[in-house]
Amino acid sequence: MSEESKKSTPYGDISIPFRLQQVPDKPVYFVIGSSEVPDKGNQGHTSNAGFVVTPGGVLVYDALGTPALGHLLLQRIRETTEQPVRVVVAGHYHADHIYGLQAFREHTDAVIWAQAAAARYFDQPDFGASEDPQRRLAQRRQALHPWVDENTYIVRPDRTFDERTRLNLGGMEFELVHRGPAHSPSDTVMIVHDLDVVFSGDLIYTGRVPFLDNPAVDSSHWLDGLDYLEGLEPRPEFVIPGHGRAFEDPREGIDFTRGYIEYLRRHMGEAVADFVPFEQAYERTDWSPYAGLSAFEETNRGNAYMVYLEMEEASLA
Ligand SMILES: [Zn+2]
Repeated sequence: MSEESKKSTPYGDISIPFRLQQVPDKPVYFVIGSSEVPDKGNQGHTSNAGFVVTPGGVLVYDALGTPALGHLLLQRIRETTEQPVRVVVAGHYHADHIYGLQAFREHTDAVIWAQAAAARYFDQPDFGASEDPQRRLAQRRQALHPWVDENTYIVRPDRTFDERTRLNLGGMEFELVHRGPAHSPSDTVMIVHDLDVVFSGDLIYTGRVPFLDNPAVDSSHWLDGLDYLEGLEPRPEFVIPGHGRAFEDPREGIDFTRGYIEYLRRHMGEAVADFVPFEQAYERTDWSPYAGLSAFEETNRGNAYMVYLEMEEASLA
């Protein structure tokens, strides 16, 4: 059966490749989404997710961008192990990572964990959620129809934590560390200590322009988060980022993401210091180091604008 063959789920068929990969010699598996923004062509498969098999059940990190993709991930889990899914960690609340939670809610008894700021996605959508959840859902019902439709809903976490927490499953320890606000308020890094594997969430992007185009982004704290990841001891043997390919040397993904954020901060920061209006600042900046990357057209200008506002606010403070 070819990878491109039709894959059926209760939430619609998927025809794009959906390839489960394994971290060498470890009971850790992941899928890598395409480095694009979600559209009908990629069927919403633009983010990564993974899972760890323990003797006491499966822990999943992130749930992909549609209920159908979430269900496909669940199918792959069931093909891999007879262990039930016990825990799903929502690494942050953004549409491209959480719509798949619906499949886990409806087809497993898993407990869904998220950092406490994920509550803002429901309770303070106008200020602090980092995207307007209802407007985003309406947009995706168009852009990702029929995989996101009127039956798609946003699943709340069952349990939340504040700064950090440790979950024990099957004798394996999973540490959840709050590193938001960086890309979003609830950014959560998951460290699997026994295996030296890290799920970085959207703190790390590879192969595409990172997404900073929302008012909750804190690029300065994001850089702190990258320092944190770089300083982890022992050094992780494998890192699975929120977007783009996974890697063994953490610096690969860290350096790329940091380079882009620092580039934005430097150029927008200089413009703010010189009282150059944003439009002009954007035009005069040489974007050629990033212009060829995936998602550049769709996100770079918005990213630059958010960082410009952030630098402006910092300069006034
Ligand atoms: Zn994302």
